[in-house]
Amino acid sequence: MSTITIALSKGRIFEETLPLLAAAGIVPDEDPERSRKLIIGTNRADVRVVIVRASDVPTYVQYGAADMGIAGKDVLLEHGGTGLYQPLDLKIAKCRLCVAAPVDFDYAAAVRRGARLRIATKYIQTAREHFAAKGVHVDLIKLYGSMELAPLAGLADAIVDLVSSGGTLKANNLVEVEEIMAISSRLVVNQASLKMKRDLLQPVIDSFAGAVP
Ligand code: ATP
Ligand code: MG
Repeated sequence: MSTITIALSKGRIFEETLPLLAAAGIVPDEDPERSRKLIIGTNRADVRVVIVRASDVPTYVQYGAADMGIAGKDVLLEHGGTGLYQPLDLKIAKCRLCVAAPVDFDYAAAVRRGARLRIATKYIQTAREHFAAKGVHVDLIKLYGSMELAPLAGLADAIVDLVSSGGTLKANNLVEVEEIMAISSRLVVNQASLKMKRDLLQPVIDSFAGAVP
């Protein structure tokens, strides 16, 4: 029997994907927040879910270890999207990618005078493209988390990070100074899987499409 593997990250993506899976008649057997299992069965014998780090979803799908997955546009831009078919914007896990700086840092003035800015971020590729397009000189500093700390600790002048409510920025005396792009999560499908298992995958894609708000 042919089976399909869906790569998801736990947390908001898993939670917000449950209604889409339900629309496709798929109900996971377990909640990854409560179980330590990384491979979760579903009500359908031919569908399983693998739980991976959000930034690893495109890699699992690219190499065909998962047939499909759900990843943020932020993650897909950093990955590059090689080998991935991206048929749907699922409009879940919405936020925006922004430049943020301490409230007392005049970002606009620094940009106007052509200053070289130190930018801390997890999103090196996307940040590089953004500042290059604007002609702003930057030193990019790669971090893996808690970007908000970098300007406070003197590591960077500003950060590039995801923002939703702005609560975390505010709590750390930072303000959004530039929006880079709106972010939501996309369905990604392995191109070879789509050819070999279209009978299984296409109905899932179609059900997701019908359930997108
Ligand atoms: P980890 O928490 O393992 O370091 P992560 O931060 O990338 O990884 P999540 O926080 O689950 O994982 O984020 C997954 C995706 O959800 C992100 O890639 C982004 O597209 C989106 N996202 C991140 N933060 C928010 C937010 N505050 N509100 C809405 N969507 C968000
Ligand atoms: Mg996170």
